[in-house]
Amino acid sequence: MLPPAIQEAAASFDRLPGIGPRAALRYAYWLAAQPKDFIERFARSLQILASSMVVCESCHQLSDTSPCLICRDPKRDQKSICVVASSQDIRALEDTAAFNGRYHVLGGTLDPIEGRRPETLKIQELVERIRSSQPPISEVILGLDTDLPGDTTALYITKQLEGLSVRITRLARGLPSGASLEYADANTLSDALKHRK
Ligand SMILES: [Zn+2]
Repeated sequence: MLPPAIQEAAASFDRLPGIGPRAALRYAYWLAAQPKDFIERFARSLQILASSMVVCESCHQLSDTSPCLICRDPKRDQKSICVVASSQDIRALEDTAAFNGRYHVLGGTLDPIEGRRPETLKIQELVERIRSSQPPISEVILGLDTDLPGDTTALYITKQLEGLSVRITRLARGLPSGASLEYADANTLSDALKHRK
């Protein structure tokens, strides 16, 4: 017996990661109780998000331009690529100011149980990018979480890059096992970058 507008809004919230049907319904009711201009601003921010964000053709991060600012910056080292799962991971690494190369966003990590197979990620694009890069890429840093999907992905990419003359390193010390890059503090991440192996 829910009002259709509440149902519709709850269904939208329900699609967000980590939000179940009960929380979705709570958000819908909470939002409905807010002043009209609050709800309208909220809706407008989502419309702007939809109309202004693009995926960078080179590194696949979400950006407002393609190529993104980092890919266009001639001062960034063109010979090293840091591979990350998501666009947010780039923010975390940029905050450390310890890396001056470019990035490659996979769009997730491998997880057979969740149905995240290699073809759902930008792995082939990474291999192509390294193959065709001018100047040649000399180092690929795997900036992936230190959990099982992160390890699986790192292993898979390492195999895919076999035969290409690139040094493959992985963020190492500093990141506790099972850690998520997005939530690591800048010092920890900076340390992990410095001690990659
Ligand atoms: Zn880019």
